[in-house]
Amino acid sequence: MSSTIGVLALQGDVAEHCRSVEALGRRALQIRYARQIDSIDGLIIPGGESTTIAKLTADNNDAIFDRIREFIDADKPVYGTCMGSIFLAKEIEGSTQGRLAAMDIKVRRNAFGPQRYSFETTLQIPVLGDEPLNAVFIRGPVILSAGPGVEVMARVDANIGRLGKTAGSLPDEAAIYDSYIVMARQKNLLVSSFHPELTDDHRVHQYFLQMVEADVPSAQNDLAHAHTVSRMALAAV
Ligand code: GLN
Repeated sequence: MSSTIGVLALQGDVAEHCRSVEALGRRALQIRYARQIDSIDGLIIPGGESTTIAKLTADNNDAIFDRIREFIDADKPVYGTCMGSIFLAKEIEGSTQGRLAAMDIKVRRNAFGPQRYSFETTLQIPVLGDEPLNAVFIRGPVILSAGPGVEVMARVDANIGRLGKTAGSLPDEAAIYDSYIVMARQKNLLVSSFHPELTDDHRVHQYFLQMVEADVPSAQNDLAHAHTVSRMALAAV
C-alpha cells in the first residue's frame, strides 16, 4: 500500500522530511491548509521553533490546528520531531505556550543549552534493530516524564550535551536524571527529540510508515509483532 504523508509546512525543516518520505517511495505533501489534511494518511510535524508555531496558534484562528486535533482524535498517525514533539506535548516545563497537548509527556525545551551545543550521538533504539542510529540534536528538547500509556523508545545520557559547556551553565541534575527520554510513542503519536530527516538512515521514518500503513501495534502490547515490523523496516532501507 502506498500512502501519502503530509509534512506540516508552516515553518521548520519541511523539505528534509519530504526527502526522507520520498526516499522510502511514498508521496510527501506539504501541508499549509486545513483541507489538505483530508488527503493524507499520516502527518509529520517538523523541527523548527515551538514559540513561532505557538504564536501562529494564538494569532491565527486557522482551521488547520483544529483539523490536526481531529486527525489525532481519529487515531491517525502523527510524528513530531524536535519542535514537533514540543507542540504535541501535554506539558512544557515552565511554559504555557500554545500547543496541541495531545501526548502524555512533559518536555523541557532547549535541554542541552543554546544552538552551539547542538551535537550528534549514536542511540540504541531496540525497535529499529541492533544497529545504533546516528542522531542529530539541534537545540533539542527532552522528555522529562511520560505517562503510563507512553512507550519509551530511546534515551540519552543526561550529561551528554554538557560536554564542552562552561561549568555551571546548566543546573547539575545528574542526581535527578541519569538519562533523558528522546524518542517515545503513545498509540498513534510518535515523537523524537532528534532529527532523523538530516541523515540518510531512514529507519525512523520507515517505522512511522509502518504505523501509518500496517497499523503497527505498540511494542508494549505486542513485542513479537513489533520485532517483525522492525525487521521489515530494516529490510526496506
Ligand atoms: N529549540 C526549539 C524550540 O524550543 C526546537 C529546536 C528544533 O526543533 N530543532 O522550539
